[in-house]
Amino acid sequence: MSIAEDVLLAPFTTFKIGGPARVFIESYTEEDVDAARDEAARRALPLLPLGGGSNILVPDEGVEGLVLKIAFRDLMLEKDRDTTLLVAGAGLSWNDAVDAACALGVFGIENLAGIPGTIGGAAVQNIGAYGAELADVFEYADTVDGATGARTRIDRAHAAFGYRTSFFKEHRTHIITRVVLRLHKRASPNIGYADLAQAQEAGVPLETSAQVAHAIRAIRARKFPRDSEGGTAGSFFKNPIISPERAETLAARYAGMPVFPQENGDAKVSLAWLLDHALALRGYAVGRARLYERQPLVIVARAGATAAEIETLACDVEERVFAATGITLEREVERFGLRK
Ligand SMILES: Cc1cc2nc3c(=O)[nH]c(=O)nc-3n(C[C@H](O)[C@H](O)[C@H](O)COP(=O)(O)OP(=O)(O)OC[C@H]3O[C@@H](n4cnc5c(N)ncnc54)[C@H](O)[C@@H]3O)c2cc1C
Repeated sequence: MSIAEDVLLAPFTTFKIGGPARVFIESYTEEDVDAARDEAARRALPLLPLGGGSNILVPDEGVEGLVLKIAFRDLMLEKDRDTTLLVAGAGLSWNDAVDAACALGVFGIENLAGIPGTIGGAAVQNIGAYGAELADVFEYADTVDGATGARTRIDRAHAAFGYRTSFFKEHRTHIITRVVLRLHKRASPNIGYADLAQAQEAGVPLETSAQVAHAIRAIRARKFPRDSEGGTAGSFFKNPIISPERAETLAARYAGMPVFPQENGDAKVSLAWLLDHALALRGYAVGRARLYERQPLVIVARAGATAAEIETLACDVEERVFAATGITLEREVERFGLRK
């Protein structure tokens, strides 16, 4: 374990934006986490875990904290009766986890192929895409409490997963060290989502988990910016979840607005559709930051863009959406270093 000071965080994020961390430690073991905890306490700095940096915006001025890059990347696949347990260090790349599962022919995370970041970050965020969520396969995660050092196992019943949220997101002192997922040998591929159904109609084979993951990556490549187009952290905002009555009023005002009924009776509204059709904000730019033309939920940052430009763009979008619809947007991407 090495301790470094004033390390620029931009290269550790997918936005490629952000100033320095006061202290930066890369951890390969739980003992490293303990040592980082001691170091943070000694310097009276907040301890900030960092995964793949794919869901954060680091301020231009940097963060006055001890940034702990989670780098344990061990991976085991164990048979457990009819199922397979994927047991991974929290710093394992999510895509490596997907590839390992697909190579073994097991199902459960193939629809989440192509999402950047680590398996630890995936649990914090309860990643979701193409009709699947991490919550569907989550078994448990082991954590170290950054404040007390206590070790805890958080199982599915206590993980409090919701739309892009979890126990881990609400209890920030828990640093995830290990994630365990339960995957299935006999499963029919989950291809109900429109893009996948279209791919199947076009003759794309979707029988094995590897085939589904391959198709998903091809679909995603058409929706997200290539590296050469700039940095991004994926969808910047969450799709709003509102009451069915409000959704009905909005749908009456904006003909064709997609509304997805939720299990609890609420309604999820397509923010991409609103930004594009109701507000004509596709491609809208502030300085070097813009809403991506092919998916306006995504903010793209051209080389040299600042966190301040992203913030101004995001606030502008939030104000316009509120003025037009009365909806207060929630962000998917978090401002790194701010703690509840
Ligand atoms: C091009 C692109 C496409 C994307 N598509 C999707 C998508 O389809 N669906 C989706 O849900 N998301 C998507 N994302 C968002 C992002 O990839 C996920 O949220 C990812 O899981 C974040 O993981 P990370 O390791 O990069 O976390 P980071 O960005 O490093 O961290 C995010 C938060 O988690 C905390 N954290 C990270 N690791 C740990 C740990 N071990 N213990 C405790 N806290 C930790 C950090 O402190 C921070 O608060 C996309 C992002 C990009 C750039």
